[in-house]
Amino acid sequence: MLTGKTKLLGVIGHPIGHTLSPRMHNAAFAADGADYAYVAMDVTPGRLPAAVEGISALGFVGFNVTMPHKEAMLPLVDELDEAARLAGAVNTVVVGEGGKLRGLNTDGSGFVEACAEAGVSLLGRRVLILGAGGAASAIAVAVLEEGVSRLCLVNRTIEKAERLRERLSGFVDGTKVLVRSLDEIGEAAAESEVLINATYLGMKEGDPFPFPAASVTTEKVVCDAVYCAGRETALILHAREDGACTVSGGRMLLYQGVQAQRVWTGREPNVGVMSDALA
Ligand code: NAP
Repeated sequence: MLTGKTKLLGVIGHPIGHTLSPRMHNAAFAADGADYAYVAMDVTPGRLPAAVEGISALGFVGFNVTMPHKEAMLPLVDELDEAARLAGAVNTVVVGEGGKLRGLNTDGSGFVEACAEAGVSLLGRRVLILGAGGAASAIAVAVLEEGVSRLCLVNRTIEKAERLRERLSGFVDGTKVLVRSLDEIGEAAAESEVLINATYLGMKEGDPFPFPAASVTTEKVVCDAVYCAGRETALILHAREDGACTVSGGRMLLYQGVQAQRVWTGREPNVGVMSDALA
């Protein structure tokens, strides 16, 4: 039940009607009797600065940022965490004293927590990320922090992968990060132990498969950032059938939310209830 003291949280994006975040967060608050409410707010790109100022003025405790605002949010915060700066994208904002905004990125660390849940350690592994946008960048920063031995970036627009490698080179030994073109994805996948799809491929039924089917084998860990309400992606289903270990976009979504809630509330979120709300 909402009270006169209910603390406000939410997500801004455009469009936003499809978001699962209100369901996930509010289920946990209701189960634990925590006096918070989380709402979805449709904000068009031209109104982003005004909306952010309004959210801060209204006394929200924090908010999530989703497509298409994750990059545009960077100059609108007062402080930027290192992971968000390196990823070039903000997905979580904490509103502090006097409306001061701190920008974080929990997409990458949420991905790592989803790997840990699946029993996957990234330390010393050879990792391939397909994609070079916001999700790929956040995951790249997080897996490098976990100590992968090699990170191969593959993207349709190779210049974007090269720009991402440049951003990462100040953070890790540059020789650890390689860029390969989409034509080389078969070899790049064969040389990697962990395959991560961080493109849009798989969002729509009938989309082309992100990796050559032959490269998805029992020995691989196969991960998808893409999530679809009510079903697994074709990549995750195929990988499971082949006996590969998998980490789905749904688990990444869950743990990016768990980490945001931890920061906003300072308490341990009810992960089981959040997971059930997404199922
Ligand atoms: P983004 O910044 O727009 O990047 C999109 C990426 O997908 C780019 O690398 C783009 O390549 C690539 N791409 C798009 N269409 C493609 C195609 N037909 N063939 C090959 N590559 C293609 O988007 P994003 O924010 O990173 O999101 C990517 C996916 O991750 C989305 O499905 C999103 O919902 C998901 N995501 C999930 C979570 C989660 O919690 N599970 C969190 C964040 C994002 P170019 O550079 O060549 O255009």
